[in-house]
Amino acid sequence: MTLVPPKTIHFVSLGCSKNRVDTEVMLGVSDLAGYALVAEPSDAEVIVVNTCGFVESAKQESIDTILELSDFKAKGRCKKLVVAGCLSQRYPDALARDLPEVDHFLGSSDMLKLETVLRTDAAHKVERVLVGNPAEYVYKQSDPRKLSAGQHSVYVKIAEGCSRSCSFCAIPSFRGKQRSRQVADVVHEVQRLCAAGTVEINLISQDTISYGRDLEPRTNLATLLRALLEVKELRWLRLFYLYPEKLDDELVELLAAGGKLVPYLDMPFQHASDRMLKLMRRGYNAKRQRELIERLRLAVPNLFIRSAFIVGHPGETDADFAELLDLLRFAELDHVGVFRYSHEDGTHSGSMEDLIDDKIIDQRANALMKTQRAISKKRLRAMIGREVEVLVEGESDESEHLLVGRHAGQAPEVDGTVHLINGSAQPGEIRKARITHAADYDLVGDLSLGTDDPLRPNANKPKPKGTKGTRLRVVS
Ligand code: SF4
Repeated sequence: MTLVPPKTIHFVSLGCSKNRVDTEVMLGVSDLAGYALVAEPSDAEVIVVNTCGFVESAKQESIDTILELSDFKAKGRCKKLVVAGCLSQRYPDALARDLPEVDHFLGSSDMLKLETVLRTDAAHKVERVLVGNPAEYVYKQSDPRKLSAGQHSVYVKIAEGCSRSCSFCAIPSFRGKQRSRQVADVVHEVQRLCAAGTVEINLISQDTISYGRDLEPRTNLATLLRALLEVKELRWLRLFYLYPEKLDDELVELLAAGGKLVPYLDMPFQHASDRMLKLMRRGYNAKRQRELIERLRLAVPNLFIRSAFIVGHPGETDADFAELLDLLRFAELDHVGVFRYSHEDGTHSGSMEDLIDDKIIDQRANALMKTQRAISKKRLRAMIGREVEVLVEGESDESEHLLVGRHAGQAPEVDGTVHLINGSAQPGEIRKARITHAADYDLVGDLSLGTDDPLRPNANKPKPKGTKGTRLRVVS
């Protein structure tokens, strides 16, 4: 009997973790259609690029990637080049006109349509541009998602779209208004993932704090979290993209309680001066922002905060920027991302004229990162001597003899890592390590000094009654 080799497919996923989930749905679709995933584009009969279209640099990266991969169609095995995601959702007509080498375009909510595209041949044709209406799609746990990275830490998308109107952001115009998944659907997915070995769930959406407000009957993030915390095998639950509005007491209490909900918040503040927050249409002022940070620090003393800021928005003065640096010093955030303002069509800011010179934007971005680097370093140094739980990721890129992992205050891919020494562990294990060194963004943890090390005396001795474990327990 002669075996027919499977058809082959290669994916490139650009942009954020939400896009990555979408790519994994397309990976599931291709798997069901009998395609084998290949790591090299030169081996693929079909190549799919899932694009990002958020800001200028992301758009350029998407176009460069498409052009680069179109070479494999001209010279290699590739017979079909498919472009999906935000860029084609945002500019379907322009891309179809300017990129004749692309066979099919799918939008940001057309992942399931990949099946039709894969089945097309000379006898079965479908339209070239299959960009649909995002409002008609919400991811469901029954969609054929196939994980592309390890099983132990997984992103779960709890809503699509965004109903806010921040002046600089084009996302609502092409991803549509917020559509939340049902609580039961999210819980079902998390149960299934954890039964298969997932220990860390990272909840994502465009605007996580607004989860459930669009549902009928209306629900909220705290309700979803309480249901997820019941999933037995789940060890760490992490929240991303919380708009910095007044947090309700329920949510703060859940964070303060410790346990599975890790003391970590990703909360994009975007700016700090009243004038800029108003121009950006953020709906809160500098005073409220500081009160929120103070309230969180008081209620959850071991909280790690990640945030993002935009520098160079039209009208930003030196004084506004000085206020931004001042907020960084006040808030002492753990992780910060800085974005250079991108003038986007279809946004309110895109029609503003008081543009900031590129050189000044660069200077401000560098000054912001310099200030933050010193703060991050100080916060990491303060961890030396503490015992922390570390989720082991696997071998370090630097050496096969070194393990790498993350403590609860480090999110996958975006924050630093903990290099683990003096011990062995499997990917997906959560182990205790004592922090011995700190660099600018990374830490070193000694597994042999962790209280669960089997070679350490009294390592696994039961704790006295009434001792409540916390995620970043200080034992020194
Ligand atoms: S909340 Fe985020 S995604 Fe929504 S409009 Fe504002 S910046 Fe854009």
